[in-house]
Amino acid sequence: MSAAALETRNLCKRFGGVIATDHVSLTVLADELHAVIGPNGAGKSTLIGQLAGEIKPDSGELRLFDQPVTHLAVHRRAGLGLARTYQVTQIAREFSALDNVLLAVNARRGGNFRLWRNAHDDRNAVREAHAALDLVGLSGRAHTTTGTLAHGEQRQLEIAMALATAPRLLLLDEPLAGMSQGESTAMIELLRGLKHRYPILLVEHDMDAVFALADRVSVLVSGRIIASGDVASIRSNPEVRAAYLGGDAV
Ligand code: ADP
Ligand code: MG
Repeated sequence: MSAAALETRNLCKRFGGVIATDHVSLTVLADELHAVIGPNGAGKSTLIGQLAGEIKPDSGELRLFDQPVTHLAVHRRAGLGLARTYQVTQIAREFSALDNVLLAVNARRGGNFRLWRNAHDDRNAVREAHAALDLVGLSGRAHTTTGTLAHGEQRQLEIAMALATAPRLLLLDEPLAGMSQGESTAMIELLRGLKHRYPILLVEHDMDAVFALADRVSVLVSGRIIASGDVASIRSNPEVRAAYLGGDAV
């Protein structure tokens, strides 16, 4: 049996009258890409926020690599190897792609912005940053100002930044959001390359991508997981179709 990289038990989160997370129990195994799908407002980002430690759950438990982390701060979880990307890109637009990845390498080493000037002199850091850019297919864009990269390239860069932190688990919040068809295809290939190298929790609205990539899929509707299983079982689950897929064959 594969070990769990991440486990939640009965996680609950309420915003006023809205139950954003309703007793969510979810496991991401060490060797899987587990996707969470669900319509807008289903609670996907709220769930990721709780996993990363940015949002405090009202109740429930969370374990990371078999350690209880329910009340652990964001940076402590990052220290355990949790890396996340955001639905909205979070990069320093005026810096080059390489600079952004160097920031991530530097952050992992406990560095800070005052040491930033020296980062380019640190050969190991620069080598690691280039390796991360290579992995996401951005080696040709290392010295390009990030703000001038195409949207799809910026999302790739975000993944390079996550990889540069030497993660043990990746949380990806809608990496395909706002992408063109061509950009989506490139991103799906990139994620396929990362799959099984890292445990991945992929939150995604794009079902075709999820069905192409996931080992297991959990379906979130109104904060509740209504089904969990392999792609074939999710595709043919009548409750999933009714709630999310609109009832038509997919
Ligand atoms: P998704 O990512 O699946 O689109 P979200 O997690 O963003 O869904 O939102 C789930 C529900 O919680 C929605 O009804 C949303 O309006 C509500 N919500 C999310 N964040 C907040 C917040 N900070 N304050 C109040 N309501 C929120
Ligand atoms: Mg969201």
